[in-house]
Amino acid sequence: MQTTATHTIDGESVEGVEFFDVINPATASAFARAPDATPEQLDRAVTAARRAFEKWRAVPGEERGAILRGFAAAIRAQTQELAQLLTREQGKPLGAAIREIESTASRIEGLLSFELTPEMLRSDERGRVVLDYRPLGVVGAIAPWNSPVLLGVQIAAQALVTGNSVILKPSPFTPLATLKLGEIAAEALPRGLFNTLSGGNDLGRWMTQHAGIDKIGFVGSIATGKSVLASAASSNLKRVSLELGGNDAAIVLDDADVDAIAPKLFWSAFQNSGQRCMAIKRVFVHESLAERLGSALARLAKQVKVGDGFEPGVELGPVQNRPQFERVLGLIEDAIERGGRALVGGAALDRPGYFVAPTVIAGVAEGVRLVDEEQFGPVLPLLTFADIEAAVTRANATRFGLGASVWSADAQRAADIARRLEAGTVWVNAHGGSDPGIPFGGFKESGLGRGLGSMGLKSYVEPRVLHLP
Ligand code: NAD
Repeated sequence: MQTTATHTIDGESVEGVEFFDVINPATASAFARAPDATPEQLDRAVTAARRAFEKWRAVPGEERGAILRGFAAAIRAQTQELAQLLTREQGKPLGAAIREIESTASRIEGLLSFELTPEMLRSDERGRVVLDYRPLGVVGAIAPWNSPVLLGVQIAAQALVTGNSVILKPSPFTPLATLKLGEIAAEALPRGLFNTLSGGNDLGRWMTQHAGIDKIGFVGSIATGKSVLASAASSNLKRVSLELGGNDAAIVLDDADVDAIAPKLFWSAFQNSGQRCMAIKRVFVHESLAERLGSALARLAKQVKVGDGFEPGVELGPVQNRPQFERVLGLIEDAIERGGRALVGGAALDRPGYFVAPTVIAGVAEGVRLVDEEQFGPVLPLLTFADIEAAVTRANATRFGLGASVWSADAQRAADIARRLEAGTVWVNAHGGSDPGIPFGGFKESGLGRGLGSMGLKSYVEPRVLHLP
């Protein structure tokens, strides 16, 4: 029998009026129902969040920290239950789901180590000028389906730490672990401070248009990010932070040690079945190493155990949903039609669920969709170059700008090239990973603003200048 989840509004479980099915991507069948929020339910959540904000903003920092540490501990105490829901709805292996929940708790704790203290801008015979920071009010958090708990809470935690209240909307593909989190918040946090509502894209749109919401923290695709920004501007000019898609390049120089870097490159591209904003999505390899690197990546792809995230030993799960599964297969087919060669994989697995064999495609270049677009799935194009100047130009010739990396035996040489890449984060001999203390975000269409660190927290407050005698 299917279970039915509930929203959490003003500290209480609220039943849905309409529902939608939640699909397990490892079986392609529905296993639960989630409530589809109505505009009235959103209004109730906004009213509750506003009330909670007025109290929360006045809570002294130390007390606020203690309450949020309690929330993190409550999440950690329910790791198993949350992780099971996450694997069932998202598809990732159970071990990865457990790590996502643990990172979620430590992200809240990590963000608490920053304090936005007032700054004295001037102090002389004319008087004192002080800059301080005020919370914004009610923050709407809109999350994607690839790491739904971590990314949803990351927005929420930045809002809460800085004195705001939250309404969190998970993706309709992965609502359940987040709705469970709402129940945990109802026990651990003041009433109405952290509300969770599930629904379709309409709910997201209503949030961006709602005059009672002061800011949207959004993580998702570029196309949706642009409509969020337009809608926020045309309502109450609400503040917006956008963490959007990427098409990260990894440049492998002619002196790289192929055997040493291949496993790191592989996992930086294929972890979570490639469904990570900061996954390597284009490899530019010097032509002298292309064949060896292609063989090494293909060998690794063959060894990986792909399957249902609950099966012991599984390292990669399915693609999360049917539209994305069909899109990834379409990108592979298109690349092969245009002269690409699958060194490994190249098709869906012959079993129920949205499984795509880990795929590496050589013989493609710009102009092929797999190279120009964000694949967000377990398929990696391998591009070759002869001249490093051309590789830098090609890596930068994109509307994306989230991450990039340079791989070489000579760290100094790699760092010099890294400085020329147009991306929010650039790594040398590594790729991927985030930390609550380190700002993350994109150049160009990969985002607006930065999340995490004190830079991220400053986007959840309004700076105020005080002129004092
Ligand atoms: P998506 O844009 O389709 O959906 C994201 C969220 O927006 C969902 O909750 C969805 O219901 C909601 N939504 C849809 N239409 C809306 C609208 N008109 N107004 C408001 N909300 C709306 O993205 P997705 O497919 O869930 O996620 C994958 C994308 O997210 C990829 O491009 C990936 O790179 C990106 N991503 C970025 C980061 C980052 O930190 N930069 C992290 C993870 C994922």
